[in-house]
Amino acid sequence: MRPIYLLAQLNEVDLAIDALRARTGEIAAALQEPTALRAARDRLAAAAAELAHWRAVQAEREQIQRQIAARLMQTEKRLYSGAVRNPKELEDVERDVAQQRRQHSQAEDTLLDALIALEAATEAHTAAQAELIERTREWTAAEAALRAEQAQLAERLAAERARQAALRQAVPADLLRVYDALRPRRGGRAVARLDDDTCSECRVAVSPGRIAAIREGDDLVYCENCGRILWGE
Ligand SMILES: [Zn+2]
Repeated sequence: MRPIYLLAQLNEVDLAIDALRARTGEIAAALQEPTALRAARDRLAAAAAELAHWRAVQAEREQIQRQIAARLMQTEKRLYSGAVRNPKELEDVERDVAQQRRQHSQAEDTLLDALIALEAATEAHTAAQAELIERTREWTAAEAALRAEQAQLAERLAAERARQAALRQAVPADLLRVYDALRPRRGGRAVARLDDDTCSECRVAVSPGRIAAIREGDDLVYCENCGRILWGE
């Protein structure tokens, strides 16, 4: 086979390797845990902290309310027992009952506020849990697909590398040097095909003299416009 054909094949293989490596890099980046998942986890932690806070507040306010209720019951018992007969003392007890009823009413109000806040915190926590489950499910599926693609890419890359090594063995060293120097400066494509008497890459017409030289096939022929090595049948 003419060396230029081997070089054209090598260029295809090198381009395939470039694409496989680029995709491998994209996958490595995509395998980082997504922001949405991390954010969902943070939201759940915050919701759990809020829930724990309101549970503690509720317990504390319930205890206060119970203490005030017990005290009030004692004072009322004393008031209605008939044991207090002294008018001055009776007035004091009545005042105590009135004050403790106000305290009890206030304690019930603040407890109710805590219960409302606790209900909201419970709802927010449940929603945050559901969101984290959903995000985790999404990510697990996406990650599995990425890992499968990663394994497939590794296999294809190994196969292309083997082809690359074989072709580089077959292409004459001087041609390889020209190719290796040209490829990075031509966006990865150093070899272009003669396609309807034009360059397949830049689509500019190739002169009849060059076309003849390509067909003779002894010397390297370059596209006058883009500078790529031309080949053709
Ligand atoms: Zn060209």
